[in-house]
Amino acid sequence: MRYRETIDFIRSLYNMDDFIPLHTPVFMGNEKRYVEECIDSTFVSSVGKFVDRFEEMVAEFVGTKYAIATVNGTAALHIALKLVGVDEQCEVITQPLTFIATCNAISYCNAKPVFIDVDRDTMGLSPESLEAFLKEYTTMQNGTCINKTTGKKIGAVAPMHTFGHPCRIEEVAEICEKYRIPLVEDAAESLGSYYKGRHTGAFGTVSAFSFNGNKTITTGGGGMIVTDDEALAKRAKHITTTAKVPHPYEYIHDEIGYNYRLPNINAALGCAQMEKLEEILADKRQMADIYRKYFSKKPKITFVSEPESSKSNYWLNAIMLENSEARDIFLKECNNAGVMTRPIWRLMNRLAMFKDVQHGSLENVEWLEERVVNIPSSHRSVQC
Ligand SMILES: *Cc1c(COP(=O)(O)O)cnc(C)c1O
Repeated sequence: MRYRETIDFIRSLYNMDDFIPLHTPVFMGNEKRYVEECIDSTFVSSVGKFVDRFEEMVAEFVGTKYAIATVNGTAALHIALKLVGVDEQCEVITQPLTFIATCNAISYCNAKPVFIDVDRDTMGLSPESLEAFLKEYTTMQNGTCINKTTGKKIGAVAPMHTFGHPCRIEEVAEICEKYRIPLVEDAAESLGSYYKGRHTGAFGTVSAFSFNGNKTITTGGGGMIVTDDEALAKRAKHITTTAKVPHPYEYIHDEIGYNYRLPNINAALGCAQMEKLEEILADKRQMADIYRKYFSKKPKITFVSEPESSKSNYWLNAIMLENSEARDIFLKECNNAGVMTRPIWRLMNRLAMFKDVQHGSLENVEWLEERVVNIPSSHRSVQC
């Protein structure tokens, strides 16, 4: 076996003989206590103090004025895009290297994605590629950026912070401002990640986080919309809670809304997880340091470190193999030996639903697709 030593090394980190998953949640604080408290209160569903507290904790951590909890990250993204006005007249610029949720949320708005390349170091939307596309293919009409090829409005730019590594979000934000396009960050993977000291998700007009079971912290399933805009925050709460007009007993709804609210029992889990977030992040950073040191001695493998000017949460550690052949051997050997590793997502432009989507050069995503592999990244207390 070509990668025997690396597989043994990963095993030694987790000190366990059976299957080593890619990422497992860790419950080491008040999770059981808060969930029990929630059950005892009978307020397990759509209202309760844990939802409010969880929202406050996330807003404070991210540094935005408002946070609105949702049933999952995809729902948060859907509403974030809707809030900035994305509809069937629109296209949304995103990267083809992302989890399907980004493109699903765009599709739920009846809009179409446009795929722009990423940078190799951040694996997130490239500001240069974005600007090159906007310059060549769009025109400004009455303050609105229109795609000359399709006649559609560019309704939003939606970059994603891949595996928790921030993209060059400040430059992306500047370009969006110049072309008057709303910015919606898919920050699902990047709770605890900063660009130039500012938390990811705080750059967008509206942004979205996920608390799915495989993310840095979890509520079982859950998401969060964040924004500094009071009107958008109010509207986010309104349409994620069936657009019900407040009234002590009457049921009146003033538009088509969504049942996207996060149940209180999930929020109870979220509050306990938020209390441990700093500790979890510290362990992840330590883990990344151990991997970086180990792989620095392997000339044919590159550990993916946080890009310049940023601090990554190192949600999922990643390495780059020398080519697709080496990648395939690595994946096969690890998975056969019970150490879970996986390639990056199949690029969005290769999926049947998005194969005809307009795109710029895809040189870097295709380069990364051949090389990048995620390696086990769980908090180590779970296994010890
Ligand atoms: C996890 C994730 C989401 C949201 O997923 P949910 O499972 O709906 O919470 C969105 N975008 C990306 C890139 C993700 O990784």
